[in-house]
Amino acid sequence: MIIIFCAPSGSGKSTMVKHLLNRYPDTFELSISCTTRAPRGEEQNGREYYFITQQEFENKIEEGLFVEYEQVYEGLYYGTLRSEIDRIQSNGHTVIFDIDVKGGLNLKRLFGNKALSIFICPPCIEVLNERLHGRGDTSEEMIQRRVAKAAKEMEYAPYFDIRIINDNLNKAKNELENIIENNVLTSNS
Ligand code: ADP
Ligand code: 5GP
Repeated sequence: MIIIFCAPSGSGKSTMVKHLLNRYPDTFELSISCTTRAPRGEEQNGREYYFITQQEFENKIEEGLFVEYEQVYEGLYYGTLRSEIDRIQSNGHTVIFDIDVKGGLNLKRLFGNKALSIFICPPCIEVLNERLHGRGDTSEEMIQRRVAKAAKEMEYAPYFDIRIINDNLNKAKNELENIIENNVLTSNS
């Protein structure tokens, strides 16, 4: 079983994923993607992402090393290496993906009923704007690009196995735990 998380930027996807990793440290491990964007804030190479150049990214595409990749924002590539999935599974862990909507649906298509796809919905687009400003690590231009993309991304919500509305954070975390207990931990045991 793999778990795929998708959401418009600012919905609280990383917060929810972190909660799951802290709550079940021996079960789940986050797939670390490659990206050509620059590190933000305290981000470190090999921890949040493998930060690589566009040339390195394109070489890996040619070598067929990605299980999926997307130009999530114009000129910025993000992708999942096959080797990353192998690494996590050989540790005996269940892979969690935090990826964009198109990449998430591609993985769901590849893994079928071995994947649980979860869409984190913001209560509304204005809240995304506020949360991205509140996070304080993204430029105004990038915030505007992310908010502009959000409405389009929301249209894909019906194609996911499960939708969680992240309005009240504790409520959303509890809902996620119940979903994991009922859909993943029971089928793992
Ligand atoms: P994403 O990974 O979807 O871009 P984050 O998890 O980074 O989003 O969340 C964006 C910001 O919103 C963060 O500062 C986070 O602490 C905050 N946040 C997340 N969920 C909630 C919530 N339910 N209510 C208020 N703020 C939230
Ligand atoms: P950020 O720049 O905020 O870290 O991520 C921007 C978007 O790219 C988020 O929606 C994130 O989930 C997505 N993303 C991160 N890694 C990947 C990946 O490997 N593949 C795809 N398709 N999207 C990714």
